[in-house]
Amino acid sequence: MRRPIIFGNWKMNKTRKEAKKFVKEIELILTGEEKAEYGVAVPFTLIDKAVDKAKNLLISAQNCHFEDSGAYTGEVSVPMLKDVKVTHCVIGHSERRMMFADTDETVNKKAKKLIENGIVPIVCIGESEAQYDNGETESVIRSQLNGSLAGLDPKAVENIVVAYEPIWAIGTGKSATKEIAQDCCAIVRDEIKNMFGEDAANKVRIQYGGSVKPDNIAEYMACEDIDGALIGGASLQVDSFTAIINATK
Ligand code: PGA
Repeated sequence: MRRPIIFGNWKMNKTRKEAKKFVKEIELILTGEEKAEYGVAVPFTLIDKAVDKAKNLLISAQNCHFEDSGAYTGEVSVPMLKDVKVTHCVIGHSERRMMFADTDETVNKKAKKLIENGIVPIVCIGESEAQYDNGETESVIRSQLNGSLAGLDPKAVENIVVAYEPIWAIGTGKSATKEIAQDCCAIVRDEIKNMFGEDAANKVRIQYGGSVKPDNIAEYMACEDIDGALIGGASLQVDSFTAIINATK
């Protein structure tokens, strides 16, 4: 049985004060005994404060560099993330692939470095609208996985999270139907089976992301190959994140 895992992705939002208030309020409704795990991926400046206030809520970073240290102005390394006790790190989000030159190759290096340091990578993949329209969704999913997860230890893959997020559904309010989301997450699982075998495919957790809201999360969670969600807009307010927790716990 895979325990579902639901993460908010705050992107470039919130001050320390706002983060502290959010985490404190969410902690009031979490016991750690829920059916699913819950977390938020926060900007670097909020990690310390969020980790300090969180007990049952998991705290993730949104990116990392693959080198341990060096002349990389503006970057944050994995040992630095370990130092501030994040347990998860989102890598290869489509916004980073589109605006900050992340590629399957850099995502792969980041995944390896995170695993080496005991931090769970949440590896994002997903096709663009043009690729979707051209019927390339399946080949894009398989090729992004082959690039982003190349050379990982199958045992380590059992513990990672893959977030399938069609770019056309991110921040658009145009969420994928549950059938599309399920089919694509099944393709993710099948490719992981091809690459790493049955055990890894059965244990890896696959999230759907793209305009997930309190009123549609339950239908995604009911799908066989969807083990959670990565949620942007609807994770920013305590009310909507609480509604998401209540719909899934
Ligand atoms: P959204 O963002 O829920 O606002 O569509 C999802 C994401 O970018 O992870």
